[in-house]
Amino acid sequence: MTDRIIFATENQGKLREARAILADLGLEVLSLKEAGLTTDVAETGETFEANAILKVKAVAADEHTIVMADDSGLEVDALGKEPGVYSARYLGENTSYRVKNQAIIDRLSGKTGSERSARFVCVIAALLPDGQILTARGTIEGVIGYEERGEGGFGYDPIFMVPELGRSTAELTAEEKNAISHRGRALTEMKEKLRGIL
Ligand code: IMP
Repeated sequence: MTDRIIFATENQGKLREARAILADLGLEVLSLKEAGLTTDVAETGETFEANAILKVKAVAADEHTIVMADDSGLEVDALGKEPGVYSARYLGENTSYRVKNQAIIDRLSGKTGSERSARFVCVIAALLPDGQILTARGTIEGVIGYEERGEGGFGYDPIFMVPELGRSTAELTAEEKNAISHRGRALTEMKEKLRGIL
């Protein structure tokens, strides 16, 4: 009998979004801290899938619990899909996003239109009580802007333009972003997969 999900993150924003989207599965969604657990895992994988799976496997949960974790990042096509799985570590973990964002804008100098294509990717992994591992991937397509725009969101949001909206993801409200984001889409797909087997 599965009665709870532990979402392996310290990030309150991710937890809030996971709770909202997974609510209708009828399972309690807890953070690691709320479950009294900790984890320390090196993200050594070369894909988002590999890293999300490393994160769920690092949590010692009981037989009533589904462990979930996500791995996400920005892929810029003209940069060979960099920063990709290194998005958080790009130019150094402690480098500000103002600097990281400007570096990406500078590296795209001279490129216009679809030459600036990029996407946010999120992969959610779920480790089920029987040891089975499920993954779900969500993406949002966009282009890299010519300057930072907007105060919302985090990370690379100020340079990620959503062409249909003519706004960066830092210019969307949390609700607007969650409705179309890579993470929202991956969580929704994972919910449908779980619904089929719970
Ligand atoms: P992680 O998935 O928490 O390991 O971190 C992924 C990294 O990708 C973040 O630190 C950000 O740099 C970037 N990233 C992932 N999702 C988003 C997003 O929605 N907006 C902006 N940056 C993001």
